[in-house]
Amino acid sequence: MRDEITNFQTCKSIAIMGGTFDPIHNGHLVAAEAVRHRFQVDKVVFIPTGRPAHKEGKQVTHNEHRYLMTVLATMRNENFDVSRIEIDRPGKTYTIDTIEQLKALCRSDVRLYFITGADAIHQIMSWKEPERLLSLCDFVAVTRPGYQKNKLFEDIGELRDKFASRIHYMEVPALAISSSDIRNRIRRGEPIKYLLPQEVEDYIYKFGLYQDEEQNEVKFVLSIDTMREKLQSALSLKRYIHTMSVSQEAMRLAEVYCSASERQKAEVAGLLHDCAKDYPEGLRDRFCREYKVPVDSIMQKQPDLIHPFLGAEVAKREYQIQDEDILNAIRYHTTGRAGMSKLEKIVFIADYIEPGREPFRGLEEARRLAYLDLDMAMKYILEETIQYVKERGRLLHPLSQEALDYYKNK
Ligand code: NAP
Repeated sequence: MRDEITNFQTCKSIAIMGGTFDPIHNGHLVAAEAVRHRFQVDKVVFIPTGRPAHKEGKQVTHNEHRYLMTVLATMRNENFDVSRIEIDRPGKTYTIDTIEQLKALCRSDVRLYFITGADAIHQIMSWKEPERLLSLCDFVAVTRPGYQKNKLFEDIGELRDKFASRIHYMEVPALAISSSDIRNRIRRGEPIKYLLPQEVEDYIYKFGLYQDEEQNEVKFVLSIDTMREKLQSALSLKRYIHTMSVSQEAMRLAEVYCSASERQKAEVAGLLHDCAKDYPEGLRDRFCREYKVPVDSIMQKQPDLIHPFLGAEVAKREYQIQDEDILNAIRYHTTGRAGMSKLEKIVFIADYIEPGREPFRGLEEARRLAYLDLDMAMKYILEETIQYVKERGRLLHPLSQEALDYYKNK
């Protein structure tokens, strides 16, 4: 926010590019540059919507993804900025609140332009405080080729007469590109190259955004509800509550870092991570023998290290989990190991930071790092855990030291 104050104080005029940007594409960038040139504004500020009031119930990609794609798309233009004000503002997103918040950061005589799709003009009377909004900034309605302009001109005329508003119009041929077309192309496996910046394309594929959720859905033999029911009878109430909380935290992390199919894996791995933790000693040893779980000398001396390894076998046999990534996330959720998969890291971290944890040293920092960078969070949690183990004179499993060495050198 500090940078924004410094930047905006020097601007006589600013264009605000409001949109969902799901995803941002070259049409948006061309439109923003055309407006900058036509109205000679000092800056175009892209503001990805936070919780759009008009999109309740509709699936919109996670805020941080839309924000980061917008940053990547605009970073090569020194006249473009991206603001988090809508993303960071709690509650539903209304443009009037955004304009007021932005105006407070600018010099008093700043001239503001709000760039948006022409459809918005037809609906503007249903927005919050439309009259005041129209008095605070100019609107620039941009259209794609082939847009029926007659109705638009009629509405612009009406609004102008009624509210003395300034609404401009610009046809932008590059807006033949649309976010919904890009999403559909990805679902159909068609190319999106040259429709959006390469960095945004790479980002979309890295995080598996806009993939067909049904196509990628992981099939489980037991339903997730059945797994929950089984866990409820296998675990103490306290452990069951912790399990549910880890599963939800893992899903939240997966929403930031993973594709839709991996989110479901995170939910299940989180649910099952402690599935063998409450077994009485006799049953635990019997299952270890039956399922051929290798119990090394450290695990023999410190039996609480057995449950993740036994848990992976129980998940396989009792909960019919076949996915190796889920089984490994359960297997290594306590010790960690070098070179963990994204899912393994997510379950390991979720177990440490889930919201039901009583406060302890390093918890808040781990929570902060978890949503910043998974590898940084892994290194931090491993360091804290190893120190904790040593302070209490407990035995450290070599896998944990190997994991720390790995994440220190990454
Ligand atoms: P939308 O429903 O996602 O988009 C409607 C159409 O307009 C789409 O075809 C979209 O194309 C296009 N479009 C949207 N923004 C554009 C832009 N800046 N430049 C060019 N084309 C654009 O609309 P939205 O993105 O959610 O909303 C647009 C802005 O209006 C946002 O800032 C939103 O917060 C604001 N809004 C405010 C209120 C309110 O205050 N009550 C209500 C509605 C909207 P693409 O899909 O290709 O982007």
